[in-house]
Amino acid sequence: MAAVRASLAREPIGGRPRNVWRYRELLPVSPPAELASHVGFTPLVAAPRLAARLGIAELWIKDEGACHPTLSFKDRLVAVAVARALAMKMPVVACSSTGNLAAAVAARAAACGLPAVVIVPEGVEAAKLAAVGAHGAQVVQIRGDYDRASRLSVHVADRYGWAVVNVNLRAFYTEGAKTIGYEIVEQRHGRLPGHVIVPVAGGGLFLKLGQSFHEARAAGIATAGDPPALYATQPEGCAPVVTAWRDGRDDVPPVRPRTMVHSLAVGDPADGPRALQLVRASGGRADAPSDEEAVAGVRLLAETEGLFVETAGGLVVAAAGRLARQGAFADGRAVVLVITGHGMKTVEVLPAGASIATIDGSAESFDTYWKERGATAPTRSGTAAG
Ligand SMILES: *Cc1c(COP(=O)(O)O)cnc(C)c1O
Repeated sequence: MAAVRASLAREPIGGRPRNVWRYRELLPVSPPAELASHVGFTPLVAAPRLAARLGIAELWIKDEGACHPTLSFKDRLVAVAVARALAMKMPVVACSSTGNLAAAVAARAAACGLPAVVIVPEGVEAAKLAAVGAHGAQVVQIRGDYDRASRLSVHVADRYGWAVVNVNLRAFYTEGAKTIGYEIVEQRHGRLPGHVIVPVAGGGLFLKLGQSFHEARAAGIATAGDPPALYATQPEGCAPVVTAWRDGRDDVPPVRPRTMVHSLAVGDPADGPRALQLVRASGGRADAPSDEEAVAGVRLLAETEGLFVETAGGLVVAAAGRLARQGAFADGRAVVLVITGHGMKTVEVLPAGASIATIDGSAESFDTYWKERGATAPTRSGTAAG
């Protein structure tokens, strides 16, 4: 870290472009020369209305669904992995994916002029697959769950020598997630947060966020506070890490996923045991809300803060409420929710018709409708209609 510190002192981070390469000394590969990067530096948004609803003193949202080319944090991981693939002149970019990674790989490969092949399980949301197709990537859907797709991608990496970002480039891919942690610290003017809640699938994001806060301190990006307590959340129907945490075990027995939070439907997480260790070492907890709670979380965040997030994000909101009720944040230190993807990706969980009133379109029909809607609706005078 001494060399990193010296480099950051020579060229302070504050003046650099706002993308993942801002922290290039802390990443394992140099930025590709020919690619302008618009990946990274998502907003960290104060969430006072949600905080009040959940009974949390200070609450922030790291909004990874915003301003990323494919609307999830996977764009960060792929930016780093594909930089490596380009440096190694690998011919094809590929992955196994529950959906978001497939979209990110397809988009980045297109931007580099490389072909892409993505291997997905059944049940991936239509919006995610539509994005993959739009970028011209080949989708290989297998009959089975993600864990099977993942095993197949290991074969593909061995046999074909493609850049399978989460297999033979996994060391580069996961490193990209550290930039989320660096940004949180920078956006808090060098102060480390107290508590960070993270959705867990394979566990890579969780581990790398943990690492990022320690590195931010060693590199001098963080100047105040201790590394945060880290909270892992998984859906009740696919919660191998949470179950192992509750049972006090060190191993993570695999489960068969039964959840509509597809992006977290990984029954045999590659980094599960290490994520479990990190929950304990950081002083955090693990929690598994139900699918219904995750959907309620999507609505609550949308209604209180104007942010529409995918089901994994709703799950994080639900976990925040449950953990707050358990007293996890009683020290009053800042809580950060890592929201990993946009709500447009999982629209099928919300009934679109619920808030629609259909009228014939005339002025009279509107007046009648508005009157019948009840006496509480505001009018131009600002008082209740009646
Ligand atoms: C990939 C993903 C995660 C977590 O991934 P890990 O495999 O645990 O690193 C979380 N949320 C969403 C929306 C994702 O796509």
